[in-house]
Amino acid sequence: MNAEGAPTAGASSLATAYRTHTCGELRATDVGQEIALAGWVNRRRDMGQLIFIDLRDRHGLTQVVIDAAEAPAAHETATGVRNEFVLQIKGTVSKRLAGTENAKLATGDIEVRARSVTVLSSAKTPPFPINDPEDADETLRLKYRYLDLRREQINRRLVLRSKLLKALSEVHHANGFVEVETPILIKSTPEGARDFIVPSRLQPGNIYALPQSPQQLKQLLMVAGFDRYYQIAHCMRDEDARADRGPEFTQLDIEMSFVSQEDVMAFVEKTVTEVTRQVVPERPISSLPFPRFSYREAIDRYGSDKPDIRFGMELHDLGEVVQGSDFGVFNSVLAAGGRVVGLAAPGLGGASRGEIDDLTRIAKHAGAKGLVHLSVGDEGITSPVLKFLGETRAQQIAETVGASPGDLVLIVADADIHAQEALGDVRVDLGHRLKLIKDTNELSYLWVYSFPMYKWDADGNRWDATHNPFSGVNPEDEELLTTTSGDLSKPSPEDPAGRARALQHDLVLNGWELGGGSIRIHRHDLLARSFALQGHGAEAAQAKFGAVLDAFEYGAPPHGGIALGIDRWIALLTNQDNIREVQAFPKTGSGSDLMLGAPSPVEAPQLAELGLALAPPKVKAPSAT
Ligand code: ASP
Repeated sequence: MNAEGAPTAGASSLATAYRTHTCGELRATDVGQEIALAGWVNRRRDMGQLIFIDLRDRHGLTQVVIDAAEAPAAHETATGVRNEFVLQIKGTVSKRLAGTENAKLATGDIEVRARSVTVLSSAKTPPFPINDPEDADETLRLKYRYLDLRREQINRRLVLRSKLLKALSEVHHANGFVEVETPILIKSTPEGARDFIVPSRLQPGNIYALPQSPQQLKQLLMVAGFDRYYQIAHCMRDEDARADRGPEFTQLDIEMSFVSQEDVMAFVEKTVTEVTRQVVPERPISSLPFPRFSYREAIDRYGSDKPDIRFGMELHDLGEVVQGSDFGVFNSVLAAGGRVVGLAAPGLGGASRGEIDDLTRIAKHAGAKGLVHLSVGDEGITSPVLKFLGETRAQQIAETVGASPGDLVLIVADADIHAQEALGDVRVDLGHRLKLIKDTNELSYLWVYSFPMYKWDADGNRWDATHNPFSGVNPEDEELLTTTSGDLSKPSPEDPAGRARALQHDLVLNGWELGGGSIRIHRHDLLARSFALQGHGAEAAQAKFGAVLDAFEYGAPPHGGIALGIDRWIALLTNQDNIREVQAFPKTGSGSDLMLGAPSPVEAPQLAELGLALAPPKVKAPSAT
């Protein structure tokens, strides 16, 4: 069997009217066979009497020899073909001359001596070479995506994606899950992003939302008694694209009934491990079981709720050490209940001004007001703030963060969480800059759990769900779902609700959030209470989440689940740093499909039918990346 699972000798399982074999199958054991191949001209070399064509399909390459003496008509046709022509070749498999074998090619022991060459389709010169792994301009790649997809690297990533989906389907079916498709035209389920909307023709003035996730529907399936549901779900969120986020994405969506958080995490961990081993057996999983961090621990040690623990360089609290120094910035932050946190960057003691500026920019971009640095040398410590801290305190700081001579100590002082997150961003940059990840092949899965239920939304004057409006509360914290005033419609930042922990679990891979989920609130009264804290009084909650609230009055089982981002997962499994590299037809950063030319204007009658009139555009829609 070859990599695609096709037979390596005899007739191929992929044989059709045009071909007996694919271009990746023929081996020395096939020598002497009469065969037919169909594919694209990857490269053509004209040596006069002999013309060599490397014929390509997605399964591989086969060298074809066309000898004017053996097959004059075929030779004449081959004289006129160019790269990317589609050909059918009929001929005999023959052993390559000793010394001309190509060990890099699966078919490298043989060649096909052509009897006939038929041009099935001619081709213009492609806008970028298909046979060159060198990266072409991304705008061109997206405009001619069908040509880009012919290229081996990206083709392989999509095949791997297909294998992952197959493996996921098998695991879920083997574990009693039912695959249910949920509709695309729905009422919004807020996941914290803007909805894409679709106006209704039959009900002018009314609008569908495209799903940000099938959250409400999967919970309703639990009320309906499907105790294990999964779906490879398409989700749409109208938000700005980033490397790990686009307007459209695919997620593995799961929901289970009569489960604890431990049940969900255990199932997901087993599934992820099994599927990873099947799909990328060559990539080791760093640690099993997956390490678990409470949100607090992840923030305090790594400055992130999606920590990359493939390297150490942990954060350390410096509150005690710097207390009482002459450095006003630290003092005022500590007096306001904030945090002073630091880390030791190994070997960076001699960092240039430019490097320090770079790191400061990262900290500031993450919201910090500045980045304090101390260089630890053999002769002592140098720092622009040494005169405020004093030699002894500076030494204590170095000791606390574990810095040795030659290292650079970096410190951020800010509000709790903000300080750690800003230094966490610096840490991640340093991890890559200093090449601290020993084995980039490793897959470091981990869990983060016990997130706060809510974060205070000062503009909306309400408690916003940190993850999912349906997330359950840790049973120990149930009585915290209240306000200081006792009136749920009058929340304030001091409310006990701010201390409640959610039954939320996020799965992280190599510093990317692979997905998240939770045990849900399944009691009507508690859900109404949580919604009220989130600023949805009884009427608003009914308008937004009426289906779920009603359903919960007809017997809802305890339930919970998760959703994992397929695009992110494949990107990480194939070492890509942008999810566009693992999507067949992705959109640009500004949401364009350069190949189809979407979005595009519509004709006036189509708008009229929907009862819509467009305001004149403020800016011309960007068309490039
Ligand atoms: N619906 C959530 C999301 O898409 C995942 C979940 O809680 O299951 O992020």
